[in-house]
Amino acid sequence: MKLTNIGTVKELLGRHGFSFSKGLGQNFIINPEICPKIAENGNACEGFGILEIGTGIGVLTAELAKRADKVAAVEIDTRLLPILEETLGEFNNVRIFNEDVMKCDLHKIIREEFAGLRAAVCANLPYYITSPVIMLLLESRLPVESITVMVQKEAAQRLCAKVGSREAGAVTVGVNYYGTAKYLFGVSRGSFMPSPNVDSAVIRIDVNPTQRLEDEDERFFFRMVKCGFSQRRKTLANALSSQMQIEKQKIYSALGKLNLSEAARIEQLDMEQLIALSAALRC
Ligand code: SAM
Repeated sequence: MKLTNIGTVKELLGRHGFSFSKGLGQNFIINPEICPKIAENGNACEGFGILEIGTGIGVLTAELAKRADKVAAVEIDTRLLPILEETLGEFNNVRIFNEDVMKCDLHKIIREEFAGLRAAVCANLPYYITSPVIMLLLESRLPVESITVMVQKEAAQRLCAKVGSREAGAVTVGVNYYGTAKYLFGVSRGSFMPSPNVDSAVIRIDVNPTQRLEDEDERFFFRMVKCGFSQRRKTLANALSSQMQIEKQKIYSALGKLNLSEAARIEQLDMEQLIALSAALRC
């Protein structure tokens, strides 16, 4: 079944009485060039199990299933299950989990579905949970080598920004802490049904399997990053003293050791400086 053919998709959805849910971020890919490119860039090949988040009617799922050994896909919308039975019926290497990705046990899915395989994530993410999903995958240290996802263009730019630039946010630091993000290609809004109001882009995060900081230091580091970015226009000294109850003098002295001005703001610090600052503030 050609799931990028508008006529086919309309007939399929009409027959199942399906209507799009805006709240669930349902914008399905209808541009035939996109899914092969996501799959190619996303490690969908022999020896890999691919975790997909949000199947829609299965257009990307089918492309992943053609290339990878196994696909495990999490989809929250129960109404899509009978449609998926029809569109993915020919594949015996796909398993759908009708669950909320934010609540299900992804470690268990990977352990049980991908035994003996390498693992990666590929998805056209629902836009309303882009950052929470990416941070959940990274913070829970899911054993995946890469995360290749389509997100809104602005989110892609933020995720792939340089730490220490105005475009960066807390999520940029998170992604850079756990891996390396790369902006792959832009996707116009006309590539989806229904068409959203903004353009999209595909990014890939190559996950670093080694832990950079001890658990306690890591928790402190992320608390500092979140506090700093929640008041990013303030100086670090003001933001951290008010939110983390650290004495200003201690912050000034830590900044001084890093040759940074007392008026420094969080968006001016690169990754190594952020890690060094958090170590200095913790002792
Ligand atoms: N992969 C399909 C495609 O590219 O055409 C659909 C992508 S659509 C942008 C996002 C999908 O994620 C929808 O099918 C939606 O129902 C599903 N979804 C939304 N929130 C979810 C959640 N919390 N857990 C799992 N799936 C979710």
